Amino acid sequence: MRRRTLSRRIFLAGLGKGGVAAAVGVGLIACGGDSEDPTATAEASAEASPTPIPTTTAAPGGGGAAPTATQPSGGAGGGASSGLVAVEWERANLGFVSAYVLARGNEAVIVDTGVAGSEGGIEGALGALGLGWDAVGHVIVTHLHGDHAGSLPAVLGAAPDATAYAGAADIEGISSPRELVAVGDGDLVFDLEIVETPGHTAGHVSVLDRVGGIFVAGDAINGADGGVIGPNSRFTPDMDLANQSVAKIAGLEFETILFGHGEPMLSGGSAAVGALVA
Ligand SMILES: [Zn+2]
Repeated sequence: MRRRTLSRRIFLAGLGKGGVAAAVGVGLIACGGDSEDPTATAEASAEASPTPIPTTTAAPGGGGAAPTATQPSGGAGGGASSGLVAVEWERANLGFVSAYVLARGNEAVIVDTGVAGSEGGIEGALGALGLGWDAVGHVIVTHLHGDHAGSLPAVLGAAPDATAYAGAADIEGISSPRELVAVGDGDLVFDLEIVETPGHTAGHVSVLDRVGGIFVAGDAINGADGGVIGPNSRFTPDMDLANQSVAKIAGLEFETILFGHGEPMLSGGSAAVGALVA
């Protein structure tokens, strides 16, 4: 475990990365298809070492209480003033794509769901955090592609109280047993900030934890060889808009990047995206 002691923020960000050791073929960066190997499972979960659960004092019991996204009252600054702790995160390494669980105490958000049949891998990531489906109050789908939204029906079936969210322009293209809540710039879900990052799809959104300095990228940017690269032009219909989104991401502040495709970057995140833009 590569714990960092530079700051409490980075230390917390590193707690949940037990699955990082599993290799991912970044050459397989693929998105948009639904024909990829559905047998891909979260092998990384088996790799995950017991993850220390932070002893937060966040009161449990609020899971699923907020059916809609909320707007921040004070703009940038997120929930820092509310005494929030950084989320703990765990990767569900689903093969060529990843989903993530972000948790505080015994409440969790799932960001992306992999291809159909990925619910077992996501359950493994929850378990690595000491959580089960009952902890899941929110599911955010970054965009409509099948390798990110494919297991949404199964996930919502397993977490019957969870609310699901996606960018407005993508909602129509996402199969869901329950109505999705449209989210956009500045909306807060579980005190995580939604960032519109269109281009890869029209309604693509990313997720920022300002407290922990963690950015969940979806396919707005990708990981490669320990670094960051731009969106995959093969699967991105509006590259101009997608590149504008990359520049927008570079203007945010975060250390950790959790990619849909590629190994998580544990430090230097926004600086690396800035270098990419330059
Ligand atoms: Zn995609």
